[in-house]
Amino acid sequence: MAEKAAALNVIRKIPHWINGQMHESGSDRYGEVFDSATGEQCAEVVMADEADVDAAIQSAQEAFSSWSRTPVLKRSRVMFRFKELIERDRKGIAALLTQEHGKVLHDADGSIQRGLEVVEFACGIPHLIKGEYSDQAGTGVDTYSMRQPLGVCAGITPFNFPAMVPLWMFPIAIACGNTFILKPSEKDPGCSLKWAELMQEAGLPPGVLNVVQGDHVAVNSLLTDSRIAAVSFVGSTAVAEHVYRTAAEHGKRVQALGGAMNHLVVLPDADMEQVADALVGAAYGSAGERCMAIAAVVTVGDSAEPLLEKLLPRIDALKVGPGTDNNNDMGPLITAEHRDKVRSYIDLGEEEGAKLVVDGRQHEITKSSGYFLGPTLFDHTTPDMRVYKEEIFGPVLTMIRVETFDDAIKLVNDHEYGNGTAIFTRDGDAAREFASGIQVGMIGINVPIPVPLAFHSFGGWKRSLFGDMSIYGMEGVRFYTRLKTVTSRWPTGIRAGADFSMPTM
Ligand code: NAD
Repeated sequence: MAEKAAALNVIRKIPHWINGQMHESGSDRYGEVFDSATGEQCAEVVMADEADVDAAIQSAQEAFSSWSRTPVLKRSRVMFRFKELIERDRKGIAALLTQEHGKVLHDADGSIQRGLEVVEFACGIPHLIKGEYSDQAGTGVDTYSMRQPLGVCAGITPFNFPAMVPLWMFPIAIACGNTFILKPSEKDPGCSLKWAELMQEAGLPPGVLNVVQGDHVAVNSLLTDSRIAAVSFVGSTAVAEHVYRTAAEHGKRVQALGGAMNHLVVLPDADMEQVADALVGAAYGSAGERCMAIAAVVTVGDSAEPLLEKLLPRIDALKVGPGTDNNNDMGPLITAEHRDKVRSYIDLGEEEGAKLVVDGRQHEITKSSGYFLGPTLFDHTTPDMRVYKEEIFGPVLTMIRVETFDDAIKLVNDHEYGNGTAIFTRDGDAAREFASGIQVGMIGINVPIPVPLAFHSFGGWKRSLFGDMSIYGMEGVRFYTRLKTVTSRWPTGIRAGADFSMPTM
């Protein structure tokens, strides 16, 4: 079908999904979606206007009354079927991610797996949502609590994980009895439509999951509409702050996960082979377009030279090319603009005086038409440089040399972002001190990218998360429900027998 369309030079259209079907939009705004490995347009996405958002909210609102009262076991069974359907179709979904995002097929498949695990978690909703009961909390008084859904929830997602991040949100929200409107990134929106189709095939009633395509117009309508109860956002810090403030001002529950600049600290006793292997994947995997990518390696004491000795051959051996070739380690960046922005950071690092050890601008692959950059390494970076302070979100690793373990801790803690960090050492005492004292939400000990599994929760600190709750896991169940507590006492009932006297108080 795709080949036929290509032969006819027909561009694939990516519409909204509202009330269980593709939705004809009145909007005349469209966005281009590119195959980032070739630079050619591969699809066209409709950009919602306010009427589209209104239609989605209406549909979700109407679906809420019956979905929220659907027995929890039935909701869980939809999730079980959805999980099977993802497994059935994952190869095709990975190919779609590779085309629209650019990540290499094996990496695309890995991201589907991490999202699938949240669906598996959501299958356990009957147990997860159970309340508590206290018999005889007072004399003749029992107390019980329950978690009830919020209503219509919205999710706004970034370009870098078009399959996984939506799965961090809607499976738990929907399993909890909410209805949902997903607004995916306009840069790679195809997968969101696939999720909606598969949820419908899994037995989800129309209106429970809607997908609205578009940009800030759609987002701002969702943030300000009084019918939306809660908003989950994942994206850059600038937009996260706007989303958090606007949604909160409009009375919504909100969790807004923002950007990152993650450090990997290397102590001199670490196994440098292991560090180099871990670092090369964590810095350059998915072309550095991961919010948990390692962007700065902090070498303590005399660990810099032994690490460089192991790291440089590995960087040299990295295979950069189209994501369709599973032998490649790293694909292109998402758009030409983003590639140019990352490239401008390499220019900036040179101007700032960092030592450019590997220059991705010179990589052979940059001569192709795709949005490629080679892996880049700066040494002797200092904390005042913008290449260290800001999130570059590309295959650029900076190296900072510090004297002591305490200097490393201070460096990490002084950074405005606090998403993830890692330490590599053989010393349990240092690792324990690091985990306890560091001001970051997710810590890896000899683990470079410590993304928690689905039965834990994901979330950073400082300017990497706005709101009280992390995403997925039990935090997700709490976010998408509210607590109700019932205290009950029953007057003397029928078991006391009939009473023939005049009733008095
Ligand atoms: P982005 O902030 O540009 O876009 C995210 C979403 O917000 C998209 O759906 C987009 O359409 C929408 N949006 C963009 N500008 C907007 C505006 N002005 N008003 C309202 N909505 C707007 O982020 P991105 O470039 O798609 O994704 C990369 C960013 O996401 C990086 O900063 C990365 O660190 C971050 N990220 C964070 C996490 C996390 O868990 N903390 C996970 C993945 C990505």
